Amino acid sequence: MKIKAAVVREAHGDFTVEEVDLVEPNPDEILVKLVATGICHTDLAIVEQIMPVPMPMVLGHEGAGVVEKTGANVTGFAPGDHVVLTFNTCGHCGPCHEDHPAYCEQYPLLNFYTRRPDGSATIHDAKGEPLGGAFFYQSSFATYALSQARNTIKVRKDAPLELLGPLGCGLSTGSGTVFNVLKPGPETSVAVFGTGAVGMSALMAAKAMGAGRIVAIDRVESRLELARELGATDTIDTSKQDLAKALEELGGVDHAIDTSGVPKLIAAAVAALKERGTCVLLGASKEQELTLNILPLISGRVIRGVVNGDCDPTLLIPKLVDMYLEGTFPIDKLSAFYSLEDINQAVADSNSGKTIKPILRLASA
Ligand SMILES: [Zn+2]
Ligand SMILES: [Zn+2]
Repeated sequence: MKIKAAVVREAHGDFTVEEVDLVEPNPDEILVKLVATGICHTDLAIVEQIMPVPMPMVLGHEGAGVVEKTGANVTGFAPGDHVVLTFNTCGHCGPCHEDHPAYCEQYPLLNFYTRRPDGSATIHDAKGEPLGGAFFYQSSFATYALSQARNTIKVRKDAPLELLGPLGCGLSTGSGTVFNVLKPGPETSVAVFGTGAVGMSALMAAKAMGAGRIVAIDRVESRLELARELGATDTIDTSKQDLAKALEELGGVDHAIDTSGVPKLIAAAVAALKERGTCVLLGASKEQELTLNILPLISGRVIRGVVNGDCDPTLLIPKLVDMYLEGTFPIDKLSAFYSLEDINQAVADSNSGKTIKPILRLASA
């Protein structure tokens, strides 16, 4: 079928909106008419080739839409269902069985291979040339997507579907890290390094869990203002304050969540940890090496990475939708809408810090 998609054809290139051809769903696939999709830093990391995925490519992995058609083997979904698309997993490896699907052994094949697992392409351009697709088994910078049952999450119909796509990646990454890994209580302090969508969602989750102290760190004052509104008890503006000194004045923190991937900031996060504290790494940047002092780590401090908030998306995404409707996870305050044609503007606004979470509107629900 003919669809519209934003295609990126070369490293560091712009997106071009093209009419392309999406193949029919196979028996294990679901055809979703997309209503909206978030833009995540992982999409942009691929454009910049920080993560090497071959081009040309239809990116996008925070899709939300309505089920149009299901393959013969798909159960549990019907046309008209409202769904959020997320990362895909196999469902039968050790990590999937042990309820850590974000560490699925088939993750690269099912999310980054750019083809179906059988090697066939799902999207072709106007000349009939194959394009990279099936990105996070969705490639949602498009008007329609093919997904599988395991990365398609049904959501309640009274929630505004156009806002929900980012729950599939960025917003579950930050909040899941807090709910599933750090689990702060009233005696716990949590510092969030970088108040983008991932950081803000971590902060909102920390507030929901009743964390005693929540420190937001950024260099953009408007973001820190929003962070205070969303639950930060303290803020550090690194454009004006000395980060290490400010953290020391707070007496250190129990946990740190780094969303920046910047080694200098991660080193500051680790240095600020109290004994038995954990620093979680969620982001990557161009610089990927870090030098640390060993001695402070021996006193029970932990540095670890977390993927997709170590969440089971079938539980976390509906929970976040409920929290949004209850007013405790106000994702509308992070979001700004753009048309598919304005995708390059959306990317520019994300890179400049003007927009925290850009969402492309693709159709009405
Ligand atoms: Zn698996
Ligand atoms: Zn993402």
